[in-house]
Amino acid sequence: MTHYRRIATEEAFATAEQMDAIQRAIETGRRDADTPFWGMMASGQNPFAQRVMRQLLDLEGERLEIMDAEGVDMHVLSLTSPGVQTLAADEAVAMAQRGNDLLAALTERHPSRFAGLATIAPQAPEAAAREIERAIGTLGLNGIMINSHTDDEYLDEEKYLPIFEAAHAMDAPIYIHPRGPSSGMAKPYLKYGLETAIWGYGAETGLHGVRIMVSGLLDRFPKLKIILGHMGEGIPFWLWRLDYMHRHGSNRPKLQRTLPEYFRDNFMITTSGMNWSTALKFCVEAVGADNIMWAIDYPYQEMPGAVQFMDTADISDEDRRKIYSANAERVFRIPPAAA
Ligand code: MN
Repeated sequence: MTHYRRIATEEAFATAEQMDAIQRAIETGRRDADTPFWGMMASGQNPFAQRVMRQLLDLEGERLEIMDAEGVDMHVLSLTSPGVQTLAADEAVAMAQRGNDLLAALTERHPSRFAGLATIAPQAPEAAAREIERAIGTLGLNGIMINSHTDDEYLDEEKYLPIFEAAHAMDAPIYIHPRGPSSGMAKPYLKYGLETAIWGYGAETGLHGVRIMVSGLLDRFPKLKIILGHMGEGIPFWLWRLDYMHRHGSNRPKLQRTLPEYFRDNFMITTSGMNWSTALKFCVEAVGADNIMWAIDYPYQEMPGAVQFMDTADISDEDRRKIYSANAERVFRIPPAAA
């Protein structure tokens, strides 16, 4: 079989201080759509929570062992959702810096095994912009991770412009990762536990992607790269109808390009947590193999299934090579593997 370099692009880790801060916030009364999940994780009451907590906090032990066993060359790491976005601004800014320092030291120790997406605190937009410059320019990290809404606000709001100015100037891709739906849409999800990966994450993050497209943000920042996981959070499947309805509506900002043009020019999608050949084949046709990257969503989902899916997906070997590594090398500026 052809040898593929396997670069997994949405792989989570946690720091002890991040986990402590999230738990402290819950104990002192924070209630949002992420609270039930992190309460369950902290309780350690089931095998899933125990395994995932252990694997989130591990970087160079069990993780590298499983990567070796499964032939996974590289994890593009990011601090797990919701990052530092639920914390007070001062605490969030400082914790993001420490997380990025840790990630930079790790990628320096293992340059062929790990790359990193920087954490920022959108609740402090100017500090977030400076951290983008430091993380990309000084630390050499590979992109930016933002976990959807911050305090129920979306990135197309004017207050977040400094973040996009910095990312655009540094040519840094922004991965918009899920978290629970913002409070205005969360209530109907909670009764049956739908606020997490089963539906709520995708609905929340798909909405975020559509808002960015229709807001006109991409006319101001035409080179911006936005990355969405989970086969594009539903958007590829909706692209024809989004285009049709956008052409036939008048109560939205005027745009320079069509929504499918923005999606193909400014967005990348990843396969995180969606090990389904049928959906991948559709996405190759809908958005093109140059716009898709492989991801596992470790440790929430496991490495063997994601490797087996990508090894056997019903696509051409040339597309498989692009999705496994070539697109990630281009978008994240990861050097080609040593011969
Ligand atoms: Mn994820």
